[in-house]
Amino acid sequence: MTTSGDLYARSLAVTPGGVHSPVRAFGRVGGTPVFVRAARGSRLEDVDGRRYVDFCMAFGPLILGHAHPRVLAAVKAAAEGGWSFGTAESRSLELAELITGRLPWVERLRFVNSGTEAVMSALRLARAATGRTLVLKFEGCYHGHVDSMLIRAGSGLAGVADSAGVTAGVAADTLVLPLDDTAGLEGFFAARGREIAAAIIEPLPANHGLLPQRQEFLDALAWLCQQYGALLVFDEVITGFRTAFGGMAEVTGIRPDLVTYGKIIGGGFPVGAFGGRRDVMELVAPLGPVYQAGTLSANPVAMAAGLATLGQLVDGTAYLALEDSGRMLDELLQDVPGLRLQRSGSLFWVALDDGHGGGPPIRTPAGLPETAVARFPAFFHALLAAGIYLPPSPFEVGFLSTAHTDDDLRSLATAIREKVPDT
Ligand SMILES: *Cc1c(COP(=O)(O)O)cnc(C)c1O
Repeated sequence: MTTSGDLYARSLAVTPGGVHSPVRAFGRVGGTPVFVRAARGSRLEDVDGRRYVDFCMAFGPLILGHAHPRVLAAVKAAAEGGWSFGTAESRSLELAELITGRLPWVERLRFVNSGTEAVMSALRLARAATGRTLVLKFEGCYHGHVDSMLIRAGSGLAGVADSAGVTAGVAADTLVLPLDDTAGLEGFFAARGREIAAAIIEPLPANHGLLPQRQEFLDALAWLCQQYGALLVFDEVITGFRTAFGGMAEVTGIRPDLVTYGKIIGGGFPVGAFGGRRDVMELVAPLGPVYQAGTLSANPVAMAAGLATLGQLVDGTAYLALEDSGRMLDELLQDVPGLRLQRSGSLFWVALDDGHGGGPPIRTPAGLPETAVARFPAFFHALLAAGIYLPPSPFEVGFLSTAHTDDDLRSLATAIREKVPDT
């Protein structure tokens, strides 16, 4: 029988680190990546025949769980009709209408193939719209792997200051401020606000652990952007259609000038989108001078998956069920010594610290204790052996889906309660 170990050894000979995205290499936890044979609902099965309850969920897109029957049916039906046309078709129209009809801050949108592409395009557009160069981002926020955003980011870069291959010129156009520091923000805008094309933020940062921001901080950012003529870009690639149908723009009541989506919007297929104010979006080609294009953009199979997924979410009941699951998890994991659970809706982060889950929330990357990183590999592998698949990094958040059952949550909590003391 071919094992994960065999496949990993072969993979190392053909791709850097044996994987096609760095966190998958298990570098943060050690050991051999799990090679998946199949997945359904809340479960993964690996090529060695082991089964896991999955709390990684492909890092976010699968809010309905793996291979959801309605999404599967929509994808099959779409593929029967051909899977790429290079011309207009109606599924992307339907998906765009569904979104723009419900989210008033998305007056126009454009589909792309990933969250990275959405961010890249939104920032180009913001620079064109304002005639300014500089972009402000926040330390610990991840915005994909576009050069200008590989500066004190999160995700696979957590703990790494930068990426090689990013030119000094590009890096100089991105300024970075700490999260959760309203006074710092005000001082910065007073000094340089008129040079800023856009401020981009994950309104609920979820790529360096889960770092909930105070409403006051986000309100200040929105107000300062408006005062100084900078565009506010909400990167909702994780939070869009996750914390509510309208993501954090809906939850906070803040209206961004531009917004980026990814992950859930394609239901697990490669889709991203950027959208926002009509006057700004109409600067995009072919209407305006900002070039942006994609051979496979609005691919009909991916659009079908997105439509089927958002169709299950639009009435809002899924979010109530997900919040119930999240509350159950809170209760199950109350007062576990050495563990802190930070949760917002269906996003959760298990931080291994010295506390009992109490104390004020961690809101900045600096708030993460070193023990959380040092203890994580043993913790991760103990849970893996118990049939629980968490994202393989102390900096990644866990995801609940509508496919997770109460029993799944109990299994997670039981494994955590048993294993935390050993780690
Ligand atoms: C995942 C993510 C991205 C990048 O999306 P890709 O589809 O991986 O390119 C950008 N921003 C945020 C907030 C993300 O979580």
